[in-house]
Amino acid sequence: MLNQKISDELINNLIAQAKCAANNAYAPFSKFKVGAALMTKSGKVYTGCNIENSSYGLTICAERVAIFKAISEGEREFIAMAIYNKEEKPYPCGACRQVMFEFNGGDMLVIIATDHSKDVLTLADLLPKGFKLAKTNC
Ligand code: ZN
Repeated sequence: MLNQKISDELINNLIAQAKCAANNAYAPFSKFKVGAALMTKSGKVYTGCNIENSSYGLTICAERVAIFKAISEGEREFIAMAIYNKEEKPYPCGACRQVMFEFNGGDMLVIIATDHSKDVLTLADLLPKGFKLAKTNC
């Protein structure tokens, strides 16, 4: 299975990159800074942070920033994503889980990390029956 290829060292490296990305979070309203690091099948890593907005509905999560950066660079297959907040486990929201599902089915490893703990799950654990159209054109 795909996820068995991911070592503890790689997981810790992704967490470290997610932690760095959290430093760039723009979260003046919630003060909840999140970073994400997404690893592609080829081993490249794309990071993201949450970006809030005075018009709250325009806020975007760190996970989707990382995924959209990767997709816009032509990536389509992902192995793992680490999501980091300093103190509180940053479980992804429903919207991010669905965006992850679009490109990974349930296979992707999702690492939820703080400075004190980490949970290692699959996307299927977080979103057991995600929505996906049967046919896509690209
Ligand atoms: Zn989200």
